[in-house]
Amino acid sequence: MQKFDPYINVDPGTMSPYEHGEVFVTDDGAETDLDLGHYERFIDENLTKNSSITMGKIYSNVIEKERRGDYLGKTVQVIPHITNEIKEKIYSFDNSDIDIVITEVGGTVGDIEGLSIIEAIRQVGLEKDPDDVLYIHVTLLPYISGSNEIKTKPTQHSVKELQSLGIKPDILVCRTETEITDSIREKLALFCNVRKTSVIQNMTADNLYAVPLLLEKEGLAREACKHLKLDNIESNNAEWEKMIENIRHIEDKFVNIAIVGKYVQLDDSYISVMESLRHAGFANNVKVNIDLIDCENVTKENAKEILEKYNGIIVPGGFGNRGIDGKIQTIKYARENNIPFLGICLGMQMAVVEFARNVLGLKDANSIEFDANTSNPVIHIMEEQKNINKKGGTMRLGVYDCVIKENTLANKVYGKTKISERHRHRYEYNNDYKQMLEQAGLIVSGTSPDGTLVEIIELPSHPYFIAGQFHPELKSRPNNPAPLFVGLIKAAKEHIF
Ligand code: GLN
Repeated sequence: MQKFDPYINVDPGTMSPYEHGEVFVTDDGAETDLDLGHYERFIDENLTKNSSITMGKIYSNVIEKERRGDYLGKTVQVIPHITNEIKEKIYSFDNSDIDIVITEVGGTVGDIEGLSIIEAIRQVGLEKDPDDVLYIHVTLLPYISGSNEIKTKPTQHSVKELQSLGIKPDILVCRTETEITDSIREKLALFCNVRKTSVIQNMTADNLYAVPLLLEKEGLAREACKHLKLDNIESNNAEWEKMIENIRHIEDKFVNIAIVGKYVQLDDSYISVMESLRHAGFANNVKVNIDLIDCENVTKENAKEILEKYNGIIVPGGFGNRGIDGKIQTIKYARENNIPFLGICLGMQMAVVEFARNVLGLKDANSIEFDANTSNPVIHIMEEQKNINKKGGTMRLGVYDCVIKENTLANKVYGKTKISERHRHRYEYNNDYKQMLEQAGLIVSGTSPDGTLVEIIELPSHPYFIAGQFHPELKSRPNNPAPLFVGLIKAAKEHIF
C-alpha cells in the first residue's frame, strides 16, 4: 500500500495535529500520513517510507538532484522530471516480493497540486502491460434527505475530468450513506463509462473493520482480479470474518476511558490511540467508551469532578508547554486514586515529573522541554539531539528494541522480556534521578538493550500504572492488539465489574 499526498510539506511530521491529525510512524522511522495507520491495521503488514510520499518529498528529491548536476544541463520540468520521480516511487517495489502495489492518490480530482500525480499514474498505465494496471475511482454520492435521493452528478463530473486527463476509471467505488438502487448503478455505468458490475457500493458500516467484508460482498476483489486477469484467485477471509463475528457478539458491558490531551478538537489527532483502545476492547470482550478531554481544563480543584467517572485514563504523546499542568493533575489523580493509567511518550515523561514533584518533593522538577533552567531536570534532552536545530525528521524515530525486567507489570502484560516498539521523541528520562525515583516506588521496568535509555516505568503499588517512552498504539492491530492497551482495558474492567 502506498499513499501520495499532494501538499508541499516534505512529510506530515511538521504539520499540526489540529490540521492534519496524528503523525503515524513506520518501523523504519518515516513520519507519515495517518492513513498508513489504517493500511497497517487492515492488512497487518509493516509498511515503510516508500509507502507515504508527499509532493514536497518529490520536489525536494528533484531539486537535490538538480543541485547535484544529475540532469546534465537539461531544463528541469514537471513533465518529465517530477512525473518520473513519482513513477520511481511507484516502481520502487518492482524487485521485491510484492505482487500488487495499491497506490492511493490523496486529494480530489481537479486539485491543481495533484495534477502531476494523476499525469504520472496515466503514464504508468502506458508503460506497464495493460492487464497489469487498474484505475479505481473512489467517489462520494451525496444523499439529499429532503427529496430522498442520491445524486450522481458530482461523480459524472469527476469521471469526465479524469477522462480529460487521460485516465479511464475501471471501477467506481461509491461512498454512500444509503443503499444505491439498480437504476443508480445503471446511470453511473452509462454516464461514467464503466461496466455495471464495476460500480461498487461502499456504504457506511456499523464497524470500520467490517468494511472489507462489505466490499468483498459487493464484488470489488472479483472485479479487480478480472481487470488484472488474475484467474483462480480464491478469497480467504475466514479469520477476518470470525473477528467481525466476535466483535458483533461483544456483551453490552462498557468501560469508560478518558484520553487527556490537548489536540482534542479533532478525533484524528489520537486516531491510533482510539483504535488501539477498541482493539483492546475486542480482546477483553467489552465495549469501550472513549472521551477526549482537554487537559487545559483540568486543574487540581476539578480533577476529581472531571475524571471520577472513568475506569481508565490515558495521557498521550504531545509537544509544547500548553496544557502540561492539566496532564500532571490528571496523572496525580490516577496515581492517588488507583485508576488504571497508561502514559504514552509525553504522558510517560509527565508521570515522572508528577512523581518527582509530589512524591519526592522536588517542587521544580520538570522536563527541560518546558523549563530549560529547572534545577531538577528529571526529563532531559537526549545526547544526540543536543546539536539539532532543524525540526523535520530529526527526532528519535522508528522501531527500537526494549528489554523488559522479569516479574514486572510490563513483563506480565507483554508476556516476554524482549519487545520492539516505535518512537518519536527528543527528550528522555534522566538516569541521574533513577535511584531516587525507584526507592520511592516508581520503578524502571524496560530499557534499551544497552541499559542507557529508559523505555518503561511503572508503579508496583498501584493496580495498573504504566507508561512507555514509545508509542504502543502504532503497532496495534484489530486481530493483534497492543499489550499495554489490553492490560489497561483489563484493569479498567476489573476496576468496575
Ligand atoms: N515532546 C516530547 C519529546 O519530544 C514527547 C514527544 C511525544 O510525545 N511524541 O520527547
